[in-house]
Amino acid sequence: MTEAALLQTRKEKFRDPDWTASGERRAQVRLQALRMLWINTGSLCNIECRNCYIESSPENDRLAYVNRGEVSAFLDEIEREALPTREIGFTGGEPFMNPDILAMLGDALARGHFALVLTNAMQPMQRPRIKSGLLGLREAHGARLVIRVSLDHYGKALHEEERGPDTYDKTVEGIDWLCVSPKAGTNIVQRRGDELKLVYPQTGAGPERYAGQDFRNFFLQPMDNPDRAANTAAATRYCLEHPQWRLSLQTHKLIGIR
Ligand code: SF4
Repeated sequence: MTEAALLQTRKEKFRDPDWTASGERRAQVRLQALRMLWINTGSLCNIECRNCYIESSPENDRLAYVNRGEVSAFLDEIEREALPTREIGFTGGEPFMNPDILAMLGDALARGHFALVLTNAMQPMQRPRIKSGLLGLREAHGARLVIRVSLDHYGKALHEEERGPDTYDKTVEGIDWLCVSPKAGTNIVQRRGDELKLVYPQTGAGPERYAGQDFRNFFLQPMDNPDRAANTAAATRYCLEHPQWRLSLQTHKLIGIR
């Protein structure tokens, strides 16, 4: 179907705000309060996923970058009208490509909101300017800054089927930077932060190696392999003997979601 034909079909399907094309009343949810405001930062993205809801790509600039002044106007309105808006969400495209993203996040956080960013955690987020800006925001505003990373599958093949070649490793690198989950034999560059999660047991990466680093929370997660039960018992025992560490469980697996 051509783009023009597609637009025509959509126009016919959504011509009446109250009734569907087949004559049924449309479902409605009454607006009670603006609890969360979503900002679209622009449609450009460093990659081009097969099913992207907004058809983002490195070329798609149909939705221009929103800027700090435009977002401030909305934040002013929330304040002026005393709206109960708790959270400001930022999505794209890839939000970390927007030149004003750090300033916009800082403004939302400084006004007391939670700020949520949806990202692929790839190169745009991993630039030194962005990383040091995020560390500064985390330092100033703590857990009110939340980063949500899109991973289509825990395995490389299915993730890249959706997101394209060479997308998996870079995203995992970004997740590692955000979460700090050390693996044996790797060079750890991030030595301070909010949370360190260590999969246990790992030869050459025992908890004692990381216990002195500057993290607020230390989590031990039993390794998920055929010895999971024994690993869970060992991790639990270690946490009981070393209260600096807390047990981290992959609850989705416990309830049968793999
Ligand atoms: S990373 Fe997100 S915004 Fe970018 S193309 Fe994929 S789904 Fe779209």
